[in-house]
Amino acid sequence: MTTRRVFMMQSVVGASALASGLVMAAPAMVAETDANAKGLGYVADTAKADGKKYPKHAATQACANCALYQGKAGDAAGACPLFAGKQVSAKGWCSAYAKKA
Ligand code: SF4
Repeated sequence: MTTRRVFMMQSVVGASALASGLVMAAPAMVAETDANAKGLGYVADTAKADGKKYPKHAATQACANCALYQGKAGDAAGACPLFAGKQVSAKGWCSAYAKKA
């Protein structure tokens, strides 16, 4: 293998590492263990919401159909003003849920 060929392969690896780095640069997901997530009863899966603590919760409620959700239809996650700088799961839920009009 020539040096040039090795160099080219390294460049390809480097470029894909850079590309995945850019993907990784998307805002982090809210963790259920984050203080504000705990405070709002946020869960990444609406099915896991604490129905005893939040009796108004319904299985049909999810971030994807919440008025505050900023993600596009079909996105797996999106921004929510209650969790600045992070993303909530489209399937998530929190006690501030408000049905999208
Ligand atoms: S306010 Fe709405 S979009 Fe934001 S975390 Fe709660 S349910 Fe999801």
